Amino acid sequence: MTIGVPNDLSPALVLNADYRPLSYYPLSLWSWQDAIKAVFLDRVTIVAEYDRAVHSPTASMRLPSVVCLKSYVKPARNPAFTRFNVFLRDRFQCQYCGDHNDLTFDHVVPRSKGGLTTWENVVAACSPCNLRKGGHMPKAAGMFPQQKPYQPTVHDLHNNGRLFPPNYLHESWLDYLYWDTELDPE
Ligand SMILES: [Zn+2]
Repeated sequence: MTIGVPNDLSPALVLNADYRPLSYYPLSLWSWQDAIKAVFLDRVTIVAEYDRAVHSPTASMRLPSVVCLKSYVKPARNPAFTRFNVFLRDRFQCQYCGDHNDLTFDHVVPRSKGGLTTWENVVAACSPCNLRKGGHMPKAAGMFPQQKPYQPTVHDLHNNGRLFPPNYLHESWLDYLYWDTELDPE
């Protein structure tokens, strides 16, 4: 699952005041129009620029490729319980067969048996698996999720988001995308 950003849009990578991306997935990008607006409103500093410039009758300005917020935005501690975030927690993989296609939402304990719509009871499942499991308990269906569903932290989702980089990355972004990647202890 990738997000394509055509080159001619010249989007700006948006960093938080600590020089980390505001969000990894989706990657925090602004259109060049929004980036320039924020520069003039004094909300961001320009960290890197494109070669491409925009011109007014009296001035010209190179488009920002990386901007940094002047005031730090505190990340939410607990990510919102959304379909997208459940899929991201489960790495866009059916929790029963590992398929990436045709993903739906499955209640591990079915709703008909009192199962709740919560982080701890909802997993990504492809529609064939969802259909096969139907209204059965995992044991009756012989189908158990690969990982026990859990409430992820923002950090968990960031880490998973890094597994799905967009297929367009400007070279000036790379320093800011990977420098805080955790190192594997050897
Ligand atoms: Zn499946």
